[in-house]
Amino acid sequence: IIQLYTPLNWFGTYYRMIQSAFVDMESMFDLLTEEKEVKDDVNAGDLLFTEGRVDFQNVCFSYTAGKEILSEVSFTVMPGQTVALVGPSGSGKSTIIRLLFRFYDVQGGCILIDGQDISKVKQNSLRSYIGVVPQDTVLFNDNIRENIRYGRISASDQEVEEAAVAADIHHKILSFPDGYDTEVGERGLKLSGGEKQRVAIARTILKSPRIILLDEATSALDSQTECNIQASLAKVCANHTTLVVAHRLSTIIKADQILVLHDGRIAEQGRYFHLDLINTT
Ligand code: ATP
Repeated sequence: IIQLYTPLNWFGTYYRMIQSAFVDMESMFDLLTEEKEVKDDVNAGDLLFTEGRVDFQNVCFSYTAGKEILSEVSFTVMPGQTVALVGPSGSGKSTIIRLLFRFYDVQGGCILIDGQDISKVKQNSLRSYIGVVPQDTVLFNDNIRENIRYGRISASDQEVEEAAVAADIHHKILSFPDGYDTEVGERGLKLSGGEKQRVAIARTILKSPRIILLDEATSALDSQTECNIQASLAKVCANHTTLVVAHRLSTIIKADQILVLHDGRIAEQGRYFHLDLINTT
């Protein structure tokens, strides 16, 4: 029985290893398939980041031929400003964020950072200056410490914990069964939407990017969590050029500029008290 059991036991171990490799590869492929859409020019150089000004100039974009998603979109985000994108579902808010991260190239017009066309610079260089806090954060099959360190692989354990403190998730992590060693992801402890978003914020704090793209969660959070997330986000975004797909009134009120999108066009633009935002969020 022992003779039979040992190979079976090995098989179990190997099976788990292979399975975990596949899950990790799957998440890699998700990222890679997204990235295949754009190619660097052979002579593309690095982005020379100076102050963080973002310009969209007559940007046109469609995912599939014949269905224009953004039409002649033009706006400027001044260095350090926060711009809130609002508008009905499907109006193109997230698409603007994806284009700035260069998941896709524009089909008309251009996007400039500090005066440089982002389609002419190396993707890696562009993305090294940009941090994204998505609505749904992917957690890898690893412990929570490594999941946060993903923001900057070279960060020390202490820096990881400092980022977790700033993102207001440190105490929550300490309450997990194995603290920072707790396994999360598909096979580990499941985190709530608010907790996952705070992991994303902690990653972003570690990365310390010059430009921040934020897709605010649509899901309702309890008011204390909401308040904590807003506070940690405010810390990350202070003095950084920020584009936020905004669903929360508090975010919209605080923004330096609001862009109201309708059917892929900017219908209105200004500050909260100057806009008639009824029925747009
Ligand atoms: P929401 O508030 O619901 O997130 P949104 O304003 O962010 O909406 P986008 O996600 O930018 O809207 O989508 C704009 C349009 O583009 C929608 O009609 C959507 O169906 C379409 N779209 C989005 N992603 C893709 C894709 N990968 N392929 C094809 N069409 C897409």
